[in-house]
Formats: sequence, C-alpha cells, structure tokens
Amino acid sequence: MTAQTAWPENVIARYLTVGGSSLGRDDLAVDLTYRLTVHNPPKPFATLASCAGCPATEEVSHYRTNWGSEEEEHDPEAADADARIWAQSHAETCRAIPKPA
Ligand SMILES: [Zn+2]
Repeated sequence: MTAQTAWPENVIARYLTVGGSSLGRDDLAVDLTYRLTVHNPPKPFATLASCAGCPATEEVSHYRTNWGSEEEEHDPEAADADARIWAQSHAETCRAIPKPA
C-alpha cells in the first residue's frame, strides 16, 4: 500500500525518485515549482526543480539572453521543458533516502 500524500499547492509536476519508489514514498520526489518575484501580484521568473531526497536542485530562468543581443527573451515554456528534463533524469538516478526518524 502506498499512501498518497497531498501535493503542495505550488507543485506543477512531480517525478518520483528511484529511492522513493523503493520505499513506496511518493513524497520522495523531484518537485517542479515556480520561483516567484516579490512583486504584487507575484510573477514567476524561474522554474525550480528540487529533490526531496537529496540536496540537488536546478533553477531554470524564464528569461534568456540571446548571444549577441541585449534583449532578454521571456520563454517560460522552454524553461519548464529544461526543468522537466533535469527532473526526469535526476529522479531516474537518485537513490537517496532520508535517515529514518
Ligand atoms: Zn536527489
């Protein structure tokens, strides 16, 4: 039996790690969230992938500077795509499990 834990409200995608799967722990996962500015209302400026099993994180900015251009391009979809690829590949290899309490 695997207990389904509620997702934190801000999680947009979750990739269960190898270590989490072995324990039946669906909270041991790489979660994707948006990093928000302090503006009101807050706006997402980056997609963050962070692993609950180990300290690994990857932050992908929604703004990209094109080489040879002063202009920043706002491309959240590309940032999401990069973060998902990182999350997927990290989750497939991460065997970290927390020390039992
Ligand atoms: Zn990890």
